[in-house]
Amino acid sequence: MSEQDGALHEVARLVSTCERLVWLTGAGLSVASGLLPYRKSKDAVWSRFITDWGTIERFRESPVEWWREFWLKAHADLAHGSPIEPNAGHDAITRMVRSRPAHLVVTQNIDGLHRKSGVAEQQLVEIHGRHDRFICTRPGCARVLEPFGTVDLSCLDEGTVPRCDVCAEPLRPLVLLFDESYDAHPAYGMRTARRALNDAEVILFVGTSFSVGITDYAIRAGRYAGARLVNVNVEAAEQHGLVNLLGPAEVTLPALAAITDPS
Ligand SMILES: [Zn+2]
Repeated sequence: MSEQDGALHEVARLVSTCERLVWLTGAGLSVASGLLPYRKSKDAVWSRFITDWGTIERFRESPVEWWREFWLKAHADLAHGSPIEPNAGHDAITRMVRSRPAHLVVTQNIDGLHRKSGVAEQQLVEIHGRHDRFICTRPGCARVLEPFGTVDLSCLDEGTVPRCDVCAEPLRPLVLLFDESYDAHPAYGMRTARRALNDAEVILFVGTSFSVGITDYAIRAGRYAGARLVNVNVEAAEQHGLVNLLGPAEVTLPALAAITDPS
């Protein structure tokens, strides 16, 4: 048995036997659905642009510019409601968690593809928010609009921002920005994620570059609790003590599901 076959069977055993298991998924999972991960982009100017602009401070300075020059450009593959679909990696996770209601999926992705693939609401935490949900920026209003079709973005072409239908203040996407904390809005589900990660026997990282707050938190919590940590990715994790299951998620995860949930 090769090293990777050994890792595959070891991870399959964990998925099949452990009750308290958290999947933590990142951009690498959605690559096969046609979405580009921008975190590890070799284009430093682009990465810089994202982190410079992706803040609530920038939004408040100039909402129209933020929407037009940042949000729509940085999320061009999502913002126009293009028909992106879950891939074999998403579907394999759905198949594995369906038969294990105690397992939780925490995703960094705002693309909604776990939901589209059929992961139940109570088993899913979209920790960085959703691209198709919007919130009023007036403190105290808290109006949330969803899904995508409820907000008409065509006003941006005329130089005005989409506005709250209650108080007329500018709307923003309900996604976590770089200068905000995970506890900034209950929709991010940080309490649920924290509870599950603190108590996990196993945490499976999928397609993440370990460069965001939630992966730092998960590594620390997992180590504290003595959880098994698994990295499903195209490259090995730099952190010590993780089981590496190498390969594209859309190949590795179906192979895993074929063992844990044979049809
Ligand atoms: Zn409002």
